[in-house]
Amino acid sequence: MGDYKENQDLLHGTRGTAGPLSHVRIVLVEPSHPGNIGSAARAMKVMGLSRLCLVRPRRFPDPEAVALASGAEDLLGEALVVDTLPEALQGCVRVYGTTARDRHVAWPQGDARAAAVDAWTLARDTGPVAFLFGRERTGLTNAELDLCQMLVQIPTGPVYASLNLAQAVQVLAYELQMAGRQCGIPAPGLPKAGLATVAERERFYVHLQEVLLGSGFLQPPREIHMMRRLRRLFDRAMPDSGEVEILRGILTEIQRWAGGQHTGQSSVMEDRSGDS
Ligand code: SAH
Repeated sequence: MGDYKENQDLLHGTRGTAGPLSHVRIVLVEPSHPGNIGSAARAMKVMGLSRLCLVRPRRFPDPEAVALASGAEDLLGEALVVDTLPEALQGCVRVYGTTARDRHVAWPQGDARAAAVDAWTLARDTGPVAFLFGRERTGLTNAELDLCQMLVQIPTGPVYASLNLAQAVQVLAYELQMAGRQCGIPAPGLPKAGLATVAERERFYVHLQEVLLGSGFLQPPREIHMMRRLRRLFDRAMPDSGEVEILRGILTEIQRWAGGQHTGQSSVMEDRSGDS
């Protein structure tokens, strides 16, 4: 495990491994059992994935993880360990949230196969993508799913839908490997300039929420629901970085027009520095 700086190449997908799978990040959020981390690393390596990221693992590094990695110790050694989810998602253009449960909020959904094809294609044509896996007991929170553009379910029988964490990683990793074998043609309709990163979109959503609250359009407590709908709307448009910049520019001008009350936002150009 290196420090954050040493792992920048992991974040930006510039390490030796060639091909789209080197731009697919597997993110485990607060895994409790080191054995699951080891098994997930093995599942990934076998299927040609290499970028493992751990958000606040309960025990890591740990001999149990090494024991279960069995041949994939290198992935554990290179795993990026971070404190927050945004750090794990830095530079990503799309995030897939895996979940065993049907969620009541209307996020776009796909099964593991469709998501893998989508992710593989984006990873090849646009930039890094991430699959999030939740805690063994409780999965991912709604706030974490808010950072995702698609929910992914592994189809199961009707009675029991919850796979073991590492087995869920295995199924997704297999689908990603298969997607690579099947996808030969560039995806239509992707912006030429490359999709805006999650961090860029996130800054836009924070800015939008601020303006909509200030104008009175958003009213607590319905604000969360409405922001979710607006996220879905803008995510569906798949804006590139320049387009997000235009949207933020519009918001900044509206704030100025409304009386310069809201000086908290730095300019779009300033915000973009250090972003990738
Ligand atoms: N009890 C939890 C399940 C946790 S299983 C819950 O109800 O959400 C641990 C993780 O494995 C999940 O967060 C998810 O990332 C993944 N997982 C398990 N079963 C899955 C399924 N059928 N489809 C997609 N992901 C699944």
